[in-house]
Amino acid sequence: MVKPFASSGDLGEKTETLEVLAPGVYALTAEGDPNVGAVEGEDFVVAFEARATPLMAGRWLDQLRQHTDKPVKYLVLSHYHAVRTLGAAAFSASSVIAHEQTRVLIAERGEADWASERERMPRLFTGHETIPGLTWPDLTFTDRLTVPLGGGHGDLVLQYCGRGHTAGDIVAWLPGHKILFAGDLVEAQAALYTGDAFHGDWSTGTLDRVAELGAEVLVGGRGAVAHGRAAVEAAIAQTRSFLTVMLDRTREVRGRGGSVAEAFAAVHKELEPTFGRWPIFEHCLPFNVQRLWDELDGIDWPRIWTAERDREVWARLQGE
Ligand SMILES: [Zn+2]
Repeated sequence: MVKPFASSGDLGEKTETLEVLAPGVYALTAEGDPNVGAVEGEDFVVAFEARATPLMAGRWLDQLRQHTDKPVKYLVLSHYHAVRTLGAAAFSASSVIAHEQTRVLIAERGEADWASERERMPRLFTGHETIPGLTWPDLTFTDRLTVPLGGGHGDLVLQYCGRGHTAGDIVAWLPGHKILFAGDLVEAQAALYTGDAFHGDWSTGTLDRVAELGAEVLVGGRGAVAHGRAAVEAAIAQTRSFLTVMLDRTREVRGRGGSVAEAFAAVHKELEPTFGRWPIFEHCLPFNVQRLWDELDGIDWPRIWTAERDREVWARLQGE
């Protein structure tokens, strides 16, 4: 049976769940679709992630507005991917915050990524015509940025933990509640997308730094909220194990002079029993293995995905 390209065959609506994680701290999960969050300050809201279109972002804001009517002062983007950034206009935020490398990546490949992601995940781009253009962060940093929330709400700490899912991922950390919004650096019972990743750094130092925060509640990029230390550690361990299997099998195939198609088959075979039924597993794996192959070839800066290159890699690795 021919597999439909990426997530183009995934057209069923997902059930969305808004959870109040602590007073004024919100997460919206959607059965494996990209998660979003928000944190209330004294007289403003910080939103975390923008969704793919203003229409889709507006649906999230409608739910948030049942809990707070404070204006969104800051919109935080965890990284540059289109499904996380292009809905920004809906928030009317005073500032859009991201890592400096996220701004660089949007300038370098934002247009190509938009076209690529739209074809890979058409359902997430409902209301595509409402996107006014690329989203430009106007407040960037390289290591850490603390947002005082005021009114006894404590601080929101935005932190870079090293290269991972992209060159510029940041997490949002509420030390007072030990709640972590991890972006796509951690997935909870959802497959990883690593097509723009740095597998070596991510699977070691970057995840170590995420774990060191000691979160008790973790909102990953996709999948359910992890509640409690055990669930948080399991989500981080699952993410690390996915990466480690990819690295081990791909290195092994390369060591015996094999091809990228053989590496794809070996990785798929080992991951499928554990991860095969989780969201976007089949969608991601060809892009993941191709990027890892490049990384092991010494291509440090990920090659740009275009709609055309997506189809070419998909046909070569997943087309049977
Ligand atoms: Zn992403």
